[in-house]
Amino acid sequence: MHDYTRTTLFINGQWVTPDGTGAIEVIDPATEEVIGSVPSGTAADVDAAVSAARRAFDPLIGVAERRDRVAAVITAMEKRLPDIAETITAEMGAPVRIAQTVQTQVPLAVARGVENVLATFDFEERVANSLVVREPYGVVGAITPWNYPLYQVIAKVLPAIAAGCTVVLKPSNEAPLSVFEFIEAVEDAGLPPGVLNLVSGPGAVIGERLAEHPDVDLVSFTGSTGVGARVAELAGRSVKKVALELGGKSANVILDGADLATAVKVGVSNAFLNGGQTCMAWTRMLVPQSRYGEALDLIEAAVSRYTVGDPRDPATRIGPSASASQYESVCGFIERAQRDGARLLTGGAQKIREVGYYVTPTVFADVDPNSELGQEEVFGPVLAVIPFSDDEDALRIANGTPYGLSGAVWARDTDTAIAFARGVQTGQLDINGGQYNPVAPFGGYKKSGIGRELGRAGFEEFLQTKSLQLPVTA
Ligand code: NAP
Repeated sequence: MHDYTRTTLFINGQWVTPDGTGAIEVIDPATEEVIGSVPSGTAADVDAAVSAARRAFDPLIGVAERRDRVAAVITAMEKRLPDIAETITAEMGAPVRIAQTVQTQVPLAVARGVENVLATFDFEERVANSLVVREPYGVVGAITPWNYPLYQVIAKVLPAIAAGCTVVLKPSNEAPLSVFEFIEAVEDAGLPPGVLNLVSGPGAVIGERLAEHPDVDLVSFTGSTGVGARVAELAGRSVKKVALELGGKSANVILDGADLATAVKVGVSNAFLNGGQTCMAWTRMLVPQSRYGEALDLIEAAVSRYTVGDPRDPATRIGPSASASQYESVCGFIERAQRDGARLLTGGAQKIREVGYYVTPTVFADVDPNSELGQEEVFGPVLAVIPFSDDEDALRIANGTPYGLSGAVWARDTDTAIAFARGVQTGQLDINGGQYNPVAPFGGYKKSGIGRELGRAGFEEFLQTKSLQLPVTA
C-alpha cells in the first residue's frame, strides 16, 4: 500500500521537524483503514512559519517576479496532478472520475485564470489629482476545508502569490495528504524561502493561532459558518482583514414554463456532485405545484442512475462520505427529516456496506422550507424538494435561509430567468443551465461569507489600496 506518512512541515523553504511530536491519522473512507498521517503542529510552528513569511514579504515586489512565481507554481503543479487525484480519492473518497476532473482540472483552470488576471491588471490608476496604487496585502493565513482539497488551496494561494503576498497554509485534517503533495511539487517551482509555508494540525490550535497572530495581515478562510465566525472574531481583535467562504443551502428554482426534464437532470447532478459535499450544491429543488408530480417522477428516475460504490471504480458516481463523523452527521439529518414529516422519496439512512462510510443518495419531497432540512446544510447526498405556488412564493422560499452562496433559475427564456435571479440574495446563480466559470467572482451573501474568490475580484482581496494626492502640476 502507498505510504502517505509525512513527518515534517514546510517552513522557510525547508521540510522541518515540527515543534510537537503528535500526528494526525488520515483514514480512507472507503476502507476505513489508516493510510497515512501528518504532523500535528503547534502554535510555535505557526509562529515560525509566520516569521518566515514576514521575512519573505517584499511590499515592493515587481509584477514580473510575481508572474514568474505564478507560472512556476502552475508548471510544477500540473506535472503532479495525476498523483494528487489518486491521493484525493484515497483521503476523502472522491470517485476517480471526479478526482481526475473536477478535483484537479478545475484548480488548474482557476490557476490559469489567476495568471491571466495578473497579466492584464492595472496596479495604478489616476483619479482626479490622485495616483491610486494597489499593493500586496502582506502575510496571509490560509485555512482550507477537505471537500475539494486542492481547489481550496489554489483559490487562495495562487492569487495571494500573484498579488505579492506570502502565505502560511493550514489544510484540513481530513484531507491534508494531497496538499502535502502539492507543496512537494511546488518545491520545484523555486519560490524564495518563506513565500509559501505549510503547517498542519488541529484547527483549534493552528487555525486559531493564524487568526489571532499579530503579524498575519489577512486571514482567508473556507469552511463552515460556525468556524468562520470564530475566525472572524479572533481576527477582529487585531483588526485584521478576513475573507470568508462559508456554507450554503442553495436553491434550484424551476419556474413554470421551464424545460423541467433538463432542469431536474442538471439539478440532481449538481446536488450530488462530490457526494453532495460541495458548498455551492443546489440542495433545495423548488418546483411549481402545477408540475410537482411530474417533477418527482423525473427526480426518482434521475436518482436511480446514481451508482454508489467503490471510489476507485470508474463507473462510480458517488463514493463514501469523507469521514466517519461526516457519515454520522448526514445520517442524523436524514433521520431527523423523517421525524419532521418530510416524505422520503428515495434513499434513507440504512447502512449499505459493511465497510466504508457510504450513504445512499436520498431525496425528500414535501419538505417544510422552515424545517431543519429546509434550512441547514447537510453536506451529503440529500436533496430537499419543496413545492411553491407562484413566483413570489418561490422567491420567498429561495431567500428564506440564513445562507446565500449559489443557486440556479430555470425559466421559459433567459430574460425571465434573469429577472427572477435579480431578486435572489445569493452570490452566484446559473441561468437556464449556464456553465460554471472559474474566473467569475465566487462568494456568499448573508451567512455564506464575506469577500469573493476567483478571477479579478478574488485577486483584489489580496491587495491594499493607497492614494497619493499629487500637486496640481503633476
Ligand atoms: P470546518 O470544520 O469549518 O473546517 C475548515 C477548516 O477550518 C479546517 O482546516 C479546520 O481544521 C479549520 N478549523 C477548525 N476549527 C477551527 C478553529 N477553531 N479556528 C480556525 N480554524 C479551524 O469545515 P469543513 O468541515 O472542513 O468543510 C465543510 C464546510 O466548508 C461546509 O460548511 C461547506 O459549506 C464549507 N465550504 C465552503 C466553501 C465556500 O467556498 N463557500 C467551499 C467549501 C466548503 P481541522 O481540519 O483541523 O478541523
